[in-house]
Amino acid sequence: MIDFELPEQLVTAQDKMHALAEKRMRPIAREFDEREHEKPWDFINFMWGDTKREVAGQLKALDQTEEERAEAKKKSAAQVGGQAMLMGALLREEGAWGDAGISLCRPGGGLGGAAINAVGTPEQKRRFFKRFTEDPPKWGAMAITEANAGSDTAAITTTATRDGDSWVLNGEKIFVTSGKMAAQESDGWVVVWATIDRSAGRAGIKSFVVEKGTPGMTVTKVEHKLGIRASDTATIVFEDCRIPLDNILGAPEVQKGDTTKGFKGVMATFDATRPGVAASAIGIGRAALEFVREKLAENGIAVRYGISPYRMTAIEKDIHGMEANLKAARLLTWRACCLLDRRQRNSLEASMAKAKAGLAVTHICQKAVELMGPLGYSRDYLLEKWMRDCKINDIFEGTGQINMLIVARNVLGFGRDKLK
Ligand SMILES: Cc1cc2nc3c(=O)[nH]c(=O)nc-3n(C[C@H](O)[C@H](O)[C@H](O)COP(=O)(O)OP(=O)(O)OC[C@H]3O[C@@H](n4cnc5c(N)ncnc54)[C@H](O)[C@@H]3O)c2cc1C
Repeated sequence: MIDFELPEQLVTAQDKMHALAEKRMRPIAREFDEREHEKPWDFINFMWGDTKREVAGQLKALDQTEEERAEAKKKSAAQVGGQAMLMGALLREEGAWGDAGISLCRPGGGLGGAAINAVGTPEQKRRFFKRFTEDPPKWGAMAITEANAGSDTAAITTTATRDGDSWVLNGEKIFVTSGKMAAQESDGWVVVWATIDRSAGRAGIKSFVVEKGTPGMTVTKVEHKLGIRASDTATIVFEDCRIPLDNILGAPEVQKGDTTKGFKGVMATFDATRPGVAASAIGIGRAALEFVREKLAENGIAVRYGISPYRMTAIEKDIHGMEANLKAARLLTWRACCLLDRRQRNSLEASMAKAKAGLAVTHICQKAVELMGPLGYSRDYLLEKWMRDCKINDIFEGTGQINMLIVARNVLGFGRDKLK
């Protein structure tokens, strides 16, 4: 039997996150949209306790014996039913329902942390994560994108050159989420993608951890944005930025057909993070839909189900379509998470979920604004903000088009050279 019921442990975690989103995020959503570049410190300090506990648990696991690890795994399975990824997606949905920009302000390693977790050595994990167990709050970030290298990550021009006991980085990274907090405002770090050999293409691309305070790393701009305005998005310049040799993630050698530890290994972190972005899109879409339903109900308009399409009103047809799209996106997202929870490959499903959710939610929010007329356009309500916030989910961590390209390659069995 196929069972779509969530286990009790996950429902409890979801309820807790919903309460937090309702009490601590929604009420300040407008304020931190208007006051772009200011930080919601009450929320950050509140979440920091969770970050510290999670990181301490991860670090403890590094020093465990095989038996202790098996025991901890059993305990965690009892707590989250062996569905940590799925739980992550449920929490992201609730967080984005509260506010997507404020959600992104949560302190911790972020996407850079996911990369270190995926390919860092135990020693590197200890070194870079230990600070996330000590006050005050800290951030990590991941810097890939450049002016002429976004979707085509292989085109990056930032270089890392070996010089004695150091790597020396030169280049400019743009649109780095939490870049200012990681590189300037807290004792954090930035995972930077750079090439050590341009002639080797992708195989020459490696990632490096640059710690805050390293001479030569400078935040030069913080973006003014359409949406998720509570989250900082920075330009970071690296000018003769010297870092220790062992700050490289993965092997320093250029290996043709680079397999697990280098570029491909870090790319694989997206299989784990894309369902989270999809879940975030779903949270915003759900908020928009709930608002529409609430306003219709206030005006005595009920949405009917189970009736013939010929008898439906135009609004009912729209609402049914929006709900179906949201549910389809959620099911794809949960599937991508469940595969990873079972330690199965999920690249195809992660891209399907993100492509579907990013596009579906963009349409849902636009339709919601359209149906609500002035209520959708006014700053008295959050609907216009959700329309602005949702679009990012169709851009970062691979645009909708790029994720559809990945889906097509997987389904048709073509490599990147055949389908570009
Ligand atoms: C708020 C925000 C936060 C971000 N955070 C980060 C971050 O933390 N770290 C980071 O490194 N980057 C970050 N980014 C950058 C983001 O990942 C890139 O914007 C994204 O990958 C797209 O790259 P691009 O903007 O250069 O667009 P381009 O690659 O130039 O694409 C432009 C358009 O062409 C389409 N396109 C490109 N290639 C193809 C193709 N082969 N087939 C079909 N269509 C194609 C794209 O889908 C897009 O619609 C962030 C961006 C924003 C806006």
